[in-house]
Amino acid sequence: MLKPFDEKIQQLAFVYAHSGLKADRNNRIYSYAAAIIDTDKPKAVSESFVRYSLLTGREKYYSGVSKEMLAAAPAPQAAADRLRTFLANQKFIFVLDNHNRIEDLKKFCGDVRVVDLSFAAEFFLPHLESYTPKRLWEYLNGRQREKAFFTAAEIVDLSVELVKHICGNVLNDRIFRRAAAIRYYLRKSHTLFGAAFLHITEHYKAYFGGLFDPCTLSETKNWQQFLEKAVKFPPEQKEKSAFKKISSELMESLYRAMSDAAKDYVFRPSQVEYAKHLAAALNDNAILTLEAGTGTGKTQGYLIPVMEFLYRNPHARVVVSTYTKSLQQQIFQREISFTKEIFKLYQDIPVAVLKGKSGYICAEKLNHAYESSLEGEQLLTWLYFVNLVFHFRDADGDAAGEKITAYLNDDFYFYQLLNEISAKDGCTPKHSRCPAQVVTAEAQAARLVITNHHKLVLLDKDVSLSGLFKIYIIDEANHFENAVRGALGQEVNSWEVGDVLRALEPMLKNILKRAKGEYEHDLDKALERISTIRETIRLLRASLIAINPKASLGQVKELPCDHPAFEEGRIKDRMNTLKQAFQDIGKDLKWIRENDVCRSLKIVSKTSERIRIYLNKFGEYAASVSAIETGLVSEDKVTAYQCFRKNWSVVSQSVEVAELIRRHIYEKADCIVYTAATLCYRGSFDAFSNITGLDSPLTPENGAKAKAFRFEMIPSPFSKDAAEIIVPQGAANGRFENKAEWLASVVRLIPELIEKNKGRSLVLFSSYSDLIAVAEKAAESITTYPLLIQQQGVSTVNLCDEFREIKESVLFGVDTFWYGVDFKGDTLTQVIITRIPYPSFFDPIQVARKKLMSPKAFWMRYYYDAEIKMKQGIGRLIRSDTDRGKVVILDSRYKIGSEK
Ligand code: SF4
Repeated sequence: MLKPFDEKIQQLAFVYAHSGLKADRNNRIYSYAAAIIDTDKPKAVSESFVRYSLLTGREKYYSGVSKEMLAAAPAPQAAADRLRTFLANQKFIFVLDNHNRIEDLKKFCGDVRVVDLSFAAEFFLPHLESYTPKRLWEYLNGRQREKAFFTAAEIVDLSVELVKHICGNVLNDRIFRRAAAIRYYLRKSHTLFGAAFLHITEHYKAYFGGLFDPCTLSETKNWQQFLEKAVKFPPEQKEKSAFKKISSELMESLYRAMSDAAKDYVFRPSQVEYAKHLAAALNDNAILTLEAGTGTGKTQGYLIPVMEFLYRNPHARVVVSTYTKSLQQQIFQREISFTKEIFKLYQDIPVAVLKGKSGYICAEKLNHAYESSLEGEQLLTWLYFVNLVFHFRDADGDAAGEKITAYLNDDFYFYQLLNEISAKDGCTPKHSRCPAQVVTAEAQAARLVITNHHKLVLLDKDVSLSGLFKIYIIDEANHFENAVRGALGQEVNSWEVGDVLRALEPMLKNILKRAKGEYEHDLDKALERISTIRETIRLLRASLIAINPKASLGQVKELPCDHPAFEEGRIKDRMNTLKQAFQDIGKDLKWIRENDVCRSLKIVSKTSERIRIYLNKFGEYAASVSAIETGLVSEDKVTAYQCFRKNWSVVSQSVEVAELIRRHIYEKADCIVYTAATLCYRGSFDAFSNITGLDSPLTPENGAKAKAFRFEMIPSPFSKDAAEIIVPQGAANGRFENKAEWLASVVRLIPELIEKNKGRSLVLFSSYSDLIAVAEKAAESITTYPLLIQQQGVSTVNLCDEFREIKESVLFGVDTFWYGVDFKGDTLTQVIITRIPYPSFFDPIQVARKKLMSPKAFWMRYYYDAEIKMKQGIGRLIRSDTDRGKVVILDSRYKIGSEK
């Protein structure tokens, strides 16, 4: 697909095959369909089932095919021969390869080149959250699809529609003027992928009819002209007066008005109570911690008082921060529009979404990174990022799709480029055609900003936004501690450094060919330092491994500076060597900032600009190494490392963040609301107060204005009987030392529980290693109900979709499945918690806490973390008034009743 294609295209062939997990007599395909579209002939189609005896429940749900259908189908060879005859003369085929089975299909069809439409969807439609056939169908048809499965013929039709959409809309410059630039680079890529889409776009009318030709503008390489321009709004100069308060009574009447106006909205007294607490905190500039049980409706519970407060106080500004991106999107795309629709008075309140700078791609750096010699895969990589910049409002620069990274990461160019073009640094408001400037300008003009915890913590470091917002609503507040630790921590990793070296070295070698005298000497020195850095990176990895030789790759371990291996491995020396080399390269090449020198050395401005960016990065790496070195010997910092096959990363963070929060948050804001469904430990806010620095009053030194601390708790309005909590007989003790017995009991009990509940189960694991160990042994026994398993590093969006669609399925999950998912209705009637999620004693934060805290304080924190996560896991079951089910805990240490 990414190699050149110079033949004439006449017909368009689309193929799809359903294939099973296991091979049956060397074949996995059990159903196929194909269509050929020509400019002057009617569409030709071919489809068939294929004999196959190993169909699983999950495959049946995907395809709508039954075992009986397959028993009577043609043998694989006969079916393959028929398909090959149908596709004779086709030089390539389009395939929507949603299950990564392209190799099976190629084998089945004979030797034919493939254009993978799953890749094309990610490439041309980067704003979509998911690329499953159902989500693509819904996107293309603009409505929900009831039916969960697709026959092969339906996916072929979907493939045709997808190509029509890409060529008739995305590449149509009547609809997107930027298409003229995308087409220019697609042509230049000299790939089958580019040739196929350009051909169809140019001959769109001949293939698909319609009145208009998508290509009306001449192709152009000037892609930046199509970027949106930041519109600067002068900050509102409203006279600052005391805030007008909002009354408690008003809250109730607003929610009553909402229930009268919106038929889907149900009035909830608990939500009104929530809103009243919130309104009081806004009125009094208080710091409120507000736990609201599931079903309180906390999002609208804070949005209404916030909007009303903003409406009444034109100089007030509020930031809402969340931990998960899905909640940010839900607030921005659904909840705020809903509120504004009901209360027209709020419509003029400007709202913006803000991400951290590293979530954006820098348009200037991307432009500098273009070289006319780029072609094929590398040019498509560059073009993919251009397209992302065009879509920046919806797409994350660092959230590349699975197929994109699979196809475009040859020779690490993809990540090297991504690292180079991140908008992390070097910003200036002069770059007005820049996504980061556009959103910053919008946030400056907004009175309500939705952001993430990380960005909230760093808000005051952003010169354009510093001091503008004084009211913070911190939702999903139990994740705030980690966000503070991450945002204010330091990290150096060898792959980022390696990417920069790989890009910089050939540039310097090129300049060296024409350099003389002092410049030649400086370049030689800089190249020597590059070798030193590479060698030190290698040695440092060996030293880190020596600290814990038995640790598996990727495991996070504490870096203890008192460990003998720390001395013997000369870790300190190596860090110093790295730091020195980073600084020295900057000195060696300082003349790169002088235009005259660059001219005399014939360095084009793009190259000198890129080298300057790299040197800035070296400066940052040196500062980070220095901060990590300081952190290593300070008691309140924890330094951790991870080693991989060739790489390593070292991170330094604060063990406790209470003081940081007091300094960075309480001193800056007037009113702060922490809210979440789970904040209390055994009915008390003490642990949360301790974590967030609310356990001692603010003094004039650390809080200009004294603020009242308030704590409120609103229980879930759902029936207590909706969820039954069980620890079954036969559950083993889940402690680490008892792993073999625990594993045996879990492997035995899970299939029984799933069978009894008829699927519909979410099985939660406290680590990937637990999940893998159980899945390996139990999957064979879970045959009746489709089993979905979370995979490390793979987005969970598709998995959640499948779990909702395939009603009787079973989902094995870790991480976000404990807190970040919502499965309403009878999709989920049983949550199985395999083990109480106690933090690992080997977790560097736990190791550091143990050294730093008194035993009593340590254990309180330890149990608090486990209990909050446990409550979050249990909370997955009942998400609406009518939900019913059971939570089964396969760990005999659990005491029924302790969750209350
Ligand atoms: S403002 Fe920053 S992110 Fe935007 S183009 Fe300039 S350097 Fe890049």
